[in-house]
Amino acid sequence: MDASAHSPPPAIDQDAATTAGASASTPMMSQYLDIKSRAGDALLFYRMGDFYELFFEDAVVAAQALDITLTRRGRHQGDDIPMCGVPYHASEAYLARLIRKGFTVAICEQVEDPSAARKRGSKSVVAREIVRIVTPGTLTEENLLEARESNFLGALALLRGGEEAALAAVDLSTGEVLVQTTSAQQLASDVTALSISELVMADPPPGGEEPSTSWRAAIDRIVGAARITLQPTSCFSVQTGEDRIKSAYRVYSVDGFGTFTRSEKSALGALLSYVETTQVGRLPALQSPRRIAPGATMAIDNATRLSLEIVRSQNGDREGSLVAAVDRTVTGPGARLLAARLSVPITDVAVIRRRLDAVEWLAGEENACAALRASLKAAPDMARAQSRLSLGRGGPRDLGVLRDGLRSAGAIADIFSARGAAPDELSAAIAALQACANGALSNLASLLERALGETLPHLARDGGWVAAQFDIRLDEARELRDEARKVIAALEARYRTETGVKSLKIRHNNVFGYFLETSPAQADALIAGDASQIFIHRQTLASAVRFSTGELADLDARIARARDEAVAREIDVFDRLATEVIACASEISAAAVALATLDVAASFATLAREEDYVRPQVDESRAFKIRGGRHPVVEHAARRASGSAFVANDCVLGEGEESYLWLVTGPNMAGKSTFLRQNALITVIAQSGGFVPAAEAHIGVVDRLFSRVGAADDLAKGRSTFMVEMIETAAILHQAGPRSLVVLDEIGRGTSTFDGLSIAWATVEALHDRNKCRGLFATHYHELTALSARLPRLVNVSMRVREWQGDVVFLHEVAPGAADRSYGVAVARLAGLPREVISRAGEILTELEEGRKAGPALSDLPLFAKVNDPVAQSPSTQEQLAIDQLLALLAAIDPDALSPREALELLYGLKSAARPLLNH
Ligand code: ADP
Repeated sequence: MDASAHSPPPAIDQDAATTAGASASTPMMSQYLDIKSRAGDALLFYRMGDFYELFFEDAVVAAQALDITLTRRGRHQGDDIPMCGVPYHASEAYLARLIRKGFTVAICEQVEDPSAARKRGSKSVVAREIVRIVTPGTLTEENLLEARESNFLGALALLRGGEEAALAAVDLSTGEVLVQTTSAQQLASDVTALSISELVMADPPPGGEEPSTSWRAAIDRIVGAARITLQPTSCFSVQTGEDRIKSAYRVYSVDGFGTFTRSEKSALGALLSYVETTQVGRLPALQSPRRIAPGATMAIDNATRLSLEIVRSQNGDREGSLVAAVDRTVTGPGARLLAARLSVPITDVAVIRRRLDAVEWLAGEENACAALRASLKAAPDMARAQSRLSLGRGGPRDLGVLRDGLRSAGAIADIFSARGAAPDELSAAIAALQACANGALSNLASLLERALGETLPHLARDGGWVAAQFDIRLDEARELRDEARKVIAALEARYRTETGVKSLKIRHNNVFGYFLETSPAQADALIAGDASQIFIHRQTLASAVRFSTGELADLDARIARARDEAVAREIDVFDRLATEVIACASEISAAAVALATLDVAASFATLAREEDYVRPQVDESRAFKIRGGRHPVVEHAARRASGSAFVANDCVLGEGEESYLWLVTGPNMAGKSTFLRQNALITVIAQSGGFVPAAEAHIGVVDRLFSRVGAADDLAKGRSTFMVEMIETAAILHQAGPRSLVVLDEIGRGTSTFDGLSIAWATVEALHDRNKCRGLFATHYHELTALSARLPRLVNVSMRVREWQGDVVFLHEVAPGAADRSYGVAVARLAGLPREVISRAGEILTELEEGRKAGPALSDLPLFAKVNDPVAQSPSTQEQLAIDQLLALLAAIDPDALSPREALELLYGLKSAARPLLNH
């Protein structure tokens, strides 16, 4: 990036020339200070010619954050003014860096032509205003956004201390608006599911009621995920919110959008208010707010979301996530819709089937699907281009996007018009596309086809992009400009003949405009005699002498006028076209949504063909039967890493009204976690309306999905502690119902063996007896398998392994029955533990197992009800280690060689080593 500190070119901005001597007394500095006082905490990007300048503290901060040169210009109250600047044409990259670093930037533009300011007097300053405040949630630029990811701005309304809470969100880059109620437990998950990068909240809270402790904790949890922006409480007033919604959508009543709760109106109103503030009064073309009714979506809490790696893997990347594994879309909007659907699976069986019908139809119509995808590839991102145009931030390139998008839309509608009746979801999409061939959109499409030339610049004022014969006055201005250039060439030839100077040239620069140039040796011909009456000397350089003439100056003025006229005409044409686009906003949005919908359906149809995904049967039953299920991400990874096939496994957690709990045992690395998660992921895909990686799947709609990994697995990442694990387990035991699916992986590992076993034991009992949910429970506590004797709907399964030449071989197959042993020592050998440690571990294990067998049979349940419990009598690993350590210490003692003090220290040492034994 080009670091820059400079004076902007005076030709463009007259008052920039005064910067060098800027002080509080200069009109420019007073204007700057006035605007800065209105920019709040934002860094002020103050436009001067082709640069955005920053002054004072802003300059110091930005220069450091952007690693650009800090200079000093002029004086203010006796001190130098720090200054730095970024070139306008490269400003997006600098903006992106500042936003990422947590800054907010106010963009202050010149809002009049510098010549207009000049007319007011030599001292007048070009009028400037803040036109936009840039924050993470309000980005619309192509370069600042990921094409395949949404970027939502959210507003959280907490009424009555949080008893009523709602979340409203808008993706300003597409105009999509969502509203839903939320809760302290759900907030973090909602923020992740909606890709909210900035969340607006009231400060102080409405009615002075501080949010409850659980809300404060919930807000703390999202701090890393989204930027929190505080806005005055007045923005959250329910009544003002309602008025704001009505005026934004130009409706008499908000009821047309559904029945909003008070908190939903407050959240949506505050959201619109913040959009108006940051967009300085301009609202983008917003789609009607879509209300997500409670219960309409599968509840997935944030821990589940993280553990299942739906949109991002645990390390925060898209790579390795479910979305990345199943995404076969070919457009940005399609990828965004797919991610949104997978993030928020639904519970409405009719809608799920509608989506599945579309996939099935396309999977069957291979040619249509291929033709569709080929056309989609040429369809650019209409929603984002349209949003930029409606915010006054668009350019000719965005018009080109709409032209090409509408062209593709028409082509796609044609593909389907020849086919038989398609299912609802497809025919609705096709109908929206056919509108591109008729009505207002077809007029817009042909207008854009006629108006736009070959090369489309970023900015309208760059000119040269309107096609010939579109605008007569533009053509005339261009002709005049081109004509004048020809006249210049003729003039050059004439001057050469008249002066006899063959090397004479007419050239152009920004300072002189057009001028004549000769070599110094030949300059005399223009200075001497009659020639001096015509040629006016302007400049002598070492290599050239420059002149002007009255005729040339006239021509220069004519060319400049024609050029200005042409640019002004092009800007006019741009404004006209942008107005036409804005007038068709809702039709364009509908066409864009239709294209994305088709892309998602075609993506799953492609998966069906390429990866053997099948249509799941989703209904209102409590069934859960997966035959030959696979893990979408691990399957890929396994194939890529070793070329080995993924082992498919069945899973039956529900039949009729009966729910089952599968207790999965088996050694580490045998595939337990993979099996657990694949069944949760298959459910997520099925309820988002997609085909699933299985041979067959029948899923009775799941209303809540829980997936947890025990603390021991997560401690290393510092993400979880035993306490958190227990809080989360408590949440599951409180919330899971007969329609829920619960996946628990090694719960109870983060504490001592007996504590952990007891907790796991009691949890299984509760899930089985009280929650009656469908569930998968992986554990290394083999003792739990005995529970199946007493709990009728608990099913023991285990991961098959085979021992071969003393090594353990994982078969990754789920088989009925409990694992016979844990193979921990064998796995440790595979992991490369030293041979002595392995053989010692083997000895200890044998002793422990023998000790256990010597005790009474493990038949009395629950496990710890009896004092003479056999497991409790055999030493834990920790106790065994303590014994070993004590023996080692004792063996090393030479009593005669000890001083009294050393003897005392040794006693303390022995006592400390024996602590695990003394505690029991
Ligand atoms: P566990 O939870 O029992 O420790 P994991 O589920 O983490 O085991 O699986 C360990 C590894 O085994 C995975 O990373 C994957 O590479 C492989 N694996 C698991 N399940 C399968 C399977 N069904 N087919 C092929 N490979 C598998």
